[in-house]
Amino acid sequence: ILQIRALHKWFGDLHVLRGIDLDVQPGDRIAILGASGSGKSTFLRCLNFMELPSEGEISLKARPIGRPSGQGSARQRSYAQAELCEVRKSVGMVFQQFNLFPHMSVLANVMEGLLTVLRQPREEARRRALLQLEKVGLADKATAFPAQLSGGQQQRVAIARALAMEPEVLLFDEPTSSLDPELVGEVLGVIRGLAEEGRTMLLVTHELGFAYHYANKILFLADGQIHEAGTPDQVLKHPQKERTQRFIERFT
Ligand code: ATP
Ligand code: MG
Repeated sequence: ILQIRALHKWFGDLHVLRGIDLDVQPGDRIAILGASGSGKSTFLRCLNFMELPSEGEISLKARPIGRPSGQGSARQRSYAQAELCEVRKSVGMVFQQFNLFPHMSVLANVMEGLLTVLRQPREEARRRALLQLEKVGLADKATAFPAQLSGGQQQRVAIARALAMEPEVLLFDEPTSSLDPELVGEVLGVIRGLAEEGRTMLLVTHELGFAYHYANKILFLADGQIHEAGTPDQVLKHPQKERTQRFIERFT
């Protein structure tokens, strides 16, 4: 569903992603591991074009995003706003810090994208938003404001908001890292449910146990490259590279 070829990202002189190639198949549940600063968030952000790739190609359902531009380097691309908007609808993202609108009710948060991006009629948006809130077990909090919810509940609202857009791919960037330990389980429970539905997802996480059971593929990122990749058994139980081994030892 996603094809990533020779993806590079620079921030000024800082070469953060250094040639990432990856094929994401429908139904893949890919866990991304790596040390702080290895480029995990930048990678996810490039996949829904919150950051624009500096070089390389990303195709969504076999359609390359962006058009080749420039004479010299054929690998550079330019991106049209309308096209990026389309991609962001298809690729949803959930953040470590929830990013809910504090001045809007839970229901309004989930409806927002449906109204402004998908331009749905208010009643239809409301119906769809309530359905998603039910799915994450928060229909009874529809009229509450984010500040009145626990971190785990806020993150479940953020997941409902992403789901409401009916994305084809879901990206999770450390969705449980800012939660108190006792709240991690409820959010992982929702993500587990999505995995069991066969959703396509990429998840940056330090929850290695969760990754082991619910991912079908693990990527270990180091220095902006995929240092090691394989099944959970290959990467987590029998890592071939020393850096992967050291990383996993630190987290278990
Ligand atoms: P963490 O585990 O701490 O979340 P990460 O693997 O997600 O780390 P990134 O956030 O992708 O790492 O950052 C990779 C590198 O890119 C870091 O050195 C970071 O400082 C740099 N970086 C990220 N975003 C920007 C930006 N918008 N402008 C400049 N540098 C950035
Ligand atoms: Mg990050």
